[in-house]
Amino acid sequence: MNLAIIGTGYVGLTTGTCFAEVGHHVVCVDNDEAKVQALQQGQMPIYEPDLEEMIVANVSAGRLSFTTDLASAVRECEIVFIAVPTPPHEDGSVDLSYIEGVSREIADALTPEIGYRIVVDKSTVPVSTGVKVYQVIERYANKGVDVDVVSNPEFLREGCAVHDLLNPDRIVIGADSQRAMDMMKRVYQPFSAPIVEVDLASAELIKHAANSFLALKISYINAVSAVCEKAGADVELVAMGIGLDKRISRHFLNAGLGYGGSCFPKDVKGFINVSEQLGAPLELLREVERVNKAQLERFLSRIRKKLWVLRKKKIAVWGLAFKQNTDDVRESVAIKLIRRLCEEGARVVAYDPKAAVTGARALEGCNVTIADDMYECVRDAEVLVVATEWKQFAMANLVKVRELMRLPIIFDGRNILHGDNAVHAGFEYHSIGRKTLRPDSE
Ligand code: NAD
Repeated sequence: MNLAIIGTGYVGLTTGTCFAEVGHHVVCVDNDEAKVQALQQGQMPIYEPDLEEMIVANVSAGRLSFTTDLASAVRECEIVFIAVPTPPHEDGSVDLSYIEGVSREIADALTPEIGYRIVVDKSTVPVSTGVKVYQVIERYANKGVDVDVVSNPEFLREGCAVHDLLNPDRIVIGADSQRAMDMMKRVYQPFSAPIVEVDLASAELIKHAANSFLALKISYINAVSAVCEKAGADVELVAMGIGLDKRISRHFLNAGLGYGGSCFPKDVKGFINVSEQLGAPLELLREVERVNKAQLERFLSRIRKKLWVLRKKKIAVWGLAFKQNTDDVRESVAIKLIRRLCEEGARVVAYDPKAAVTGARALEGCNVTIADDMYECVRDAEVLVVATEWKQFAMANLVKVRELMRLPIIFDGRNILHGDNAVHAGFEYHSIGRKTLRPDSE
């Protein structure tokens, strides 16, 4: 099938590439000329494992191309996916101006002669957006165009997006027309995953409700971690004990610095906002947000308590990305943490394997040094903070780290180091929801 993807970011680029991988002909459209040019020259705008090789293979097989020409993509492709940003407004409501703008551009490109078209919303949007997209198209397109609007939310996880797209748990298709549903099922025929066929509004709600539930799970275990710290219990053992219950599952029960990234914070806000507008406010999610904020504050106050004064202290931070295996720093808790440490006068040196460039951009105006090497990062530091759960941090040579640092203190904000190894190397090891370990308590 001929598919167009409007918006060539983390979702659009990976989705388009995976559609090409299973045999569709895909045109990825973006209004960022520099990005399109770079992609046409084989340069990657983002880091996502396995994506680059797959793009190269599908471009050379003639199944994948990049353009800024939205109108010609709409003319050539029977299905047009929208994957543009839906950022939050100040009040938590979702900024739908990108969606509206693209809908108008699609409307301008539609004519009765090109035949039936399906416009698919892949961006995460509040319930009822699909209806609005249809109204925009109806209002601005030539009379007599034949179009349906479908919701097909995306559940990929950055850092393993290629795997997730090729092996989805489920595919959600929300359509109020059987013709559109049947064509969408053909798009997903090559993927062996259950298809959840629902109406437009339910599909839109599934995405907001799913992300909010995952954020809730994270906040739940983080709230439990605070209790564990007071009670002298171990949150990792508690998570294991409850996670083995199949009704609960161990996934997303990792205590840490809280959730960040481009999705959870904005989707929780968006869901709260839409629920309030509909008169069924999800107060529960306000608590999820409160716990998430409190987690970073508690961690910062523990660092402050240990170091007494942060001014002029050299603090090494491992991690800038919002999670491992990505260069994405949008709403990253690591970035928030570094900003706070800098505001209090600490001299921060940070390292991230893939997010050095995006991280430095996000920290502009902040007195922070970005190191090229994780060991150089810790040289003469008075404390090491682990802020992102990269595997290479978990595998670090802690004896070497200890030799390079000025003081032997680690604050592990992601519970990824082996506490025993840290203590064995001579560190005082602070983590989330667990007792502090000290060499003399070995
Ligand atoms: P992104 O910012 O990485 O990419 C969006 C792209 O759209 C950019 O390249 C931008 O240049 C382009 N764009 C903006 N306006 C355009 C226009 N008028 N015409 C053509 N291109 C335009 O965003 P993303 O992370 O890919 O997210 C896109 C949507 O998918 C959001 O609604 C997000 O909530 C949702 N989503 C994201 C993820 C994720 O993990 N990132 C997962 C699931 C769903």
